[in-house]
Amino acid sequence: FLEFFPTPSPPRFGTPAWRITAPVNLHRGEITTIRLLAKPVVSTPFLYLREFCQWFGLRELIRFNTRVDYVGMVGSAESGDKMKWIVRSKEKKCGKVMEEIFDAVVVATGHYSQPRMPNIKGMDVWTRKQIHSHVYRVPEPHRDEVVVVVGSSLSGQDISLELATVAKEVHISSKSLEITEGLSKVISKYQNLHLHLQIESLCEDGQVLFVDGSSVIADSIIYCTGYSYSLPFLDTKGMIVVDDDRVGPLYEHTFPPLLAPSLSFFMIHKYY
Ligand SMILES: Cc1cc2nc3c(=O)[nH]c(=O)nc-3n(C[C@H](O)[C@H](O)[C@H](O)COP(=O)(O)OP(=O)(O)OC[C@H]3O[C@@H](n4cnc5c(N)ncnc54)[C@H](O)[C@@H]3O)c2cc1C
Repeated sequence: FLEFFPTPSPPRFGTPAWRITAPVNLHRGEITTIRLLAKPVVSTPFLYLREFCQWFGLRELIRFNTRVDYVGMVGSAESGDKMKWIVRSKEKKCGKVMEEIFDAVVVATGHYSQPRMPNIKGMDVWTRKQIHSHVYRVPEPHRDEVVVVVGSSLSGQDISLELATVAKEVHISSKSLEITEGLSKVISKYQNLHLHLQIESLCEDGQVLFVDGSSVIADSIIYCTGYSYSLPFLDTKGMIVVDDDRVGPLYEHTFPPLLAPSLSFFMIHKYY
């Protein structure tokens, strides 16, 4: 997008230039594109998305409040292009169940909804607060607390930074002490932000023991340990499996060789 419109004021919807360049053709991540576009065009991403839907006539194609509970094959993979899919969905408000046949299914259910929790000795006996980053919203509930943040990737870094402004101490537990230059700079900026290796075990009295021999008594632990893939609605008779936190087999993270083009996945590859 920037290549096409290097000026600070890109065209609005409806201009010839916009029509020529649909954002999906230009970037690997649609959301990234939306963010790049959103700022100059309208004031908020919500308004941008609404305008995007209107312009491309998408609004009437969306069924809101409808959960897909089952997607299964009709016919066999050998039938190739003629393959069809049965899709069972449920309207959340009135509970109406629908069963329909489609020529193709694109799975775009995201991969940031099924929290992945680590397996740490003592997790079951540690009685204080333990949450996953998925439910973290704001730092205030942790004011004056000693907090252990498990994981030093993007969520762990963001959340630790926020917490450092209100919490008494923030202890980041990382798989390695070889951290990015950015994180290292941040840690040196805050006196209450500390880096440790992995957690060895958790004790009933609130102690958190790290493998490097250090320990703290913490009030909360926030697991910033990522997400697992989950496709509970998809029945491909074993042709697509979630194994070792991978979905496959998929060509280019998108097309299952045996089932494409009638089945495809969007954004299975994790950038975060
Ligand atoms: C903390 C965090 C920060 C991030 N920051 C950035 C960032 O700064 N920049 C960036 O580019 N990306 C960022 N990302 C990544 C970005 O959010 C994802 O890449 C993006 O949301 C993926 O879009 P998606 O449409 O594939 O999935 P989602 O946005 O997860 O959308 C999936 C949709 O499918 C629906 N759904 C799920 N199951 C069903 C079902 N059975 N039936 C019907 N509907 C269903 C869900 O309700 C949801 O609406 C961040 C992610 C996280 C977790």
